[in-house]
Amino acid sequence: MKKTVYTEKWTDDVHLTIADVDHIHHEKTPFQTIDFYRSITLGIFFTLDGLMMANEKDEFIYHDMISHVPLAVNPTIRHVLIIGGGDGGTAREVARYQHIETIDMVEIDERVVRLCQDHLPQTAHALDTDPRIRLHFEDGLAFVNGAKAGRYDLILVDSTDPIGPGEGLFSHAFYQACYRALSDDGILINQHESPYFDKERREMVRAHEKINALFAISEVYQFHQPTYPSGHWLFGFASKRYHPINDHQPAKWETFNLHTRYYNSDLHKAAFMLPTYVKEALHNAR
Ligand code: SAM
Repeated sequence: MKKTVYTEKWTDDVHLTIADVDHIHHEKTPFQTIDFYRSITLGIFFTLDGLMMANEKDEFIYHDMISHVPLAVNPTIRHVLIIGGGDGGTAREVARYQHIETIDMVEIDERVVRLCQDHLPQTAHALDTDPRIRLHFEDGLAFVNGAKAGRYDLILVDSTDPIGPGEGLFSHAFYQACYRALSDDGILINQHESPYFDKERREMVRAHEKINALFAISEVYQFHQPTYPSGHWLFGFASKRYHPINDHQPAKWETFNLHTRYYNSDLHKAAFMLPTYVKEALHNAR
């Protein structure tokens, strides 16, 4: 196969380049363009509309941080809703908790799931094997709107950026619907973009404004994702009751005996300690 160069524009003049890749799949769906590549250092990776979604080398960071943080705050979570997350990595991590009873995953584009099952089993394997995971191929906003009030203890928004099909997942209506679908002690984790480059910072601020206006507790935590723009990425932690540090239950979480390559109980607290420029931007959004 002829080798090619993968280039992703992080800004007009700052680009991510991965040399010597095999372009193994290209497809346009009604929702987006999907490409799969094989690279020497990152292994298999896939992009949606030209943006890196997941790769074999660093996906563990994102999937650890979206799932284990809320489960160490409320270790009795039983019913989980994942919005997006078509690569299956988030479902894989949540499924490691044997006491979780139901995992609904709502992905708008079935082709993302099917292609990840073919090309990226490292993230997608739990979708084939765990009967608690129920796949729903529809729009996340419509699904949450139709969900019973209080149905979920945890909602994980593992979405693309707020352009294309992911746009509605950053709307006030969506966060409001999540609030309604969460139990009284429910937790919402959302893809909160990045503070560093202008485009993602604008979205970070907009998301924070909306979530902060709805939830009693609304915090933000950070992690290092080397292949996302700037490598500095955020999740939002919003809850009706639980504070991510005051209510953190490390001793209980340790009893699950899960080996995690990025997440650990010390890092849990550290992740909420944000750099000054990020604190200021979030503070201004409130
Ligand atoms: N970790 C990734 C990131 O932050 O870039 C996201 C990975 S996951 C592949 C994102 C998924 O969200 C995609 O598969 C996309 O199809 C799905 N998605 C986008 N908009 C959606 C919507 N409105 N409802 C449900 N799923 C959606």
